[in-house]
Amino acid sequence: MKTTIIALALLFSITIEAQTDPKIYDIVDAVSEDRLRNDVKKLADFGTRHTLSDTLSETRGIGAARRWIKSEFDKISSNCNDCLEVFYQKDLVEKGTNQRIVKDVMVVNVVAIQRGTKYPNRYIIMSGDIDSRVSDPTDYTTDSPGANDNATGMAGAMEASRVLSQYKFENSIVYVGLSGEEQGLFGGQGLAKYAKENEWEIIGVLNNDMIGNITGVDGVVDNRTFRIFSEPITTDITDPKTLARQARSRRFYGGEVDGISRQLARYVHKTTKTYMPEMNPMMVYRLDRFGRGGHHRPFNDQGFAGIRIMEAHENYTQQHQDIRIENGINYGDTFEHVNFPYCKKLTAVNAITMASLASAPPSPKEVGIGGVVEASAKFKWNKVEGAKGYKIYWRDTTSPTWDNSRYVGDISEFTLEGIVIDNYFFGISAVGENGHESLVVFPNKIFR
Ligand SMILES: [Zn+2]
Repeated sequence: MKTTIIALALLFSITIEAQTDPKIYDIVDAVSEDRLRNDVKKLADFGTRHTLSDTLSETRGIGAARRWIKSEFDKISSNCNDCLEVFYQKDLVEKGTNQRIVKDVMVVNVVAIQRGTKYPNRYIIMSGDIDSRVSDPTDYTTDSPGANDNATGMAGAMEASRVLSQYKFENSIVYVGLSGEEQGLFGGQGLAKYAKENEWEIIGVLNNDMIGNITGVDGVVDNRTFRIFSEPITTDITDPKTLARQARSRRFYGGEVDGISRQLARYVHKTTKTYMPEMNPMMVYRLDRFGRGGHHRPFNDQGFAGIRIMEAHENYTQQHQDIRIENGINYGDTFEHVNFPYCKKLTAVNAITMASLASAPPSPKEVGIGGVVEASAKFKWNKVEGAKGYKIYWRDTTSPTWDNSRYVGDISEFTLEGIVIDNYFFGISAVGENGHESLVVFPNKIFR
């Protein structure tokens, strides 16, 4: 009898402590380097995919490119019992909107939605870009293969859909090719607005922009490291009183490095470290590269969590360049510079992050923290439907990652005995029956 109880207890603790899901390893393995290579080649061979380029030709220009992308998503869908909803989402951008829009243009995104079984209106989004450019951003006729920037991100989104469409997930997954990136982030703006208008509940946006270069202009060759850019806190609120209140709260309680995009970045970091430990995810605590931006930004602007996933070492002679040889240097973003084993790895990083998040229950919305001048930190949160339990995380205030955690069951308050509130940052995630976890929520309430 006693043995049975011990055995049961052991089984129970193994189940709740399970850190890995074998399905996720299968997903890593299923991502195909060959298919990525074929897709990048195909995209580069459209000559140019400049946002303002020809839309009528069947072989050249952004029109041909987006029709091909849509036809690929349609094909992928027919291989999974029509599991993808594939459509164009478009907005007219008028000449003169900025200096790079030299004529009226329809900015067209290609969207494929894999509908969630339990939370159809909750979305995790992976984006790449359809468009490309050369040295002059308004030159829409010259050859602009955009192999790394950003056929790699586009091919990654398509390949992730091939792999993940073989599974079912509780939350919806969106695979999207955005346009107008190089002209001023227009495709992202269009889709972010569409999402807002249609009341999408976005879990997060994984914007992939340049995921295939391993030979940096800095001389470093590195096929392990990649960057995860995230802005520190949300930037959609503009009301001065609310901003002042939030600033005051951060001054006393912290939170300046714990916005929703940062939690998404940590989730990518953790998922990678768990399932692909050979990789070196490098979080960068800034929206994007110095003074620059990408297609996650329009989503951030609408208050959604969004990050950029990108190679760690860029090569500027191979982006936004006319194809030419100058002083013995081959300029241009051409197919032969792309490293496909690396592109496969970064595509897998996206796929496993999305598979995990799409399998997880929603995060608790309200997370309260207490324990001022006490020996222990206390927590209260709202229960989430579909969660079998919760995980309380804490870390040193100087640490970038959630280093300590304590699983608690299906309860809504807990005291972390002996952990003094003053010395750490805290957060809580919801854990599903299958062991998959939501994003971590930084406390948004204080109680005594
Ligand atoms: Zn670019």
